[in-house]
Amino acid sequence: MKQLIDNFRAVKNRIELAVKRHNVSSTPLLLAVSKKHLLEKIMVLAEQGQRDFGESYAQEGVEKIEQCTDKSLIWHFIGPIQSNKVKLIATYFDWVHSVERMKVVNLLIKHRPSEAGRMNVLLQLKVGDEDSKSGAGLDELFAMAAVVDAADNLNLRGVMCIPPPSDDFTQQQGYFNAAYEAFERLKTTYPYIDTLSMGMSGDLEAAIACGSTVVRVGTDLFGQRQ
Ligand SMILES: *Cc1c(COP(=O)(O)O)cnc(C)c1O
Repeated sequence: MKQLIDNFRAVKNRIELAVKRHNVSSTPLLLAVSKKHLLEKIMVLAEQGQRDFGESYAQEGVEKIEQCTDKSLIWHFIGPIQSNKVKLIATYFDWVHSVERMKVVNLLIKHRPSEAGRMNVLLQLKVGDEDSKSGAGLDELFAMAAVVDAADNLNLRGVMCIPPPSDDFTQQQGYFNAAYEAFERLKTTYPYIDTLSMGMSGDLEAAIACGSTVVRVGTDLFGQRQ
């Protein structure tokens, strides 16, 4: 657990360093990606002041949310969304980052309970090569945004992306700049959007350089997943 706290401080430092180096005006939020790690570890970070946690598997995430005694934590669903899991996600999570199909938008509207308040929604943009496995194109992104914006149980917050893995900073920046541009275009229609979720353990510096407001870090906080 000492290791975990050291990792937490190191990741926070990396974020601060990137903010300074790239002259960014505000520090992005750290989303601690806790998938495949035990609730115990989540609680250790919660005691250090971490509030936002990300999960990629609906059932696993819901079990943690139910068992968690700290009700002040904020839970983000960031994984691929199967239609038959939308009801669970819409019932338990505060945010969803990985909305890439209109069908999922409609199911979120159908299943988000009014007593849970508006669900915060990010639309996942496809970046990188044509056959990149996840995310919507720009037209689909705009079509989904209109429906989310009109829904009274959803809150359109912005854009998320998962670029293809790359070790090259310039290539990483190319992907993230594309997402930043899409975010800015969406903002001309929906000026209230405020969230650009991009950057993970291996590319958070490039993401911060390109305007990320949320970095999603798993491995460099919690260690390797099983
Ligand atoms: C697992 C995951 C992460 C965290 O990735 P690391 O490389 O472990 O930091 C971030 N975003 C999404 C969507 C993920 O599924």
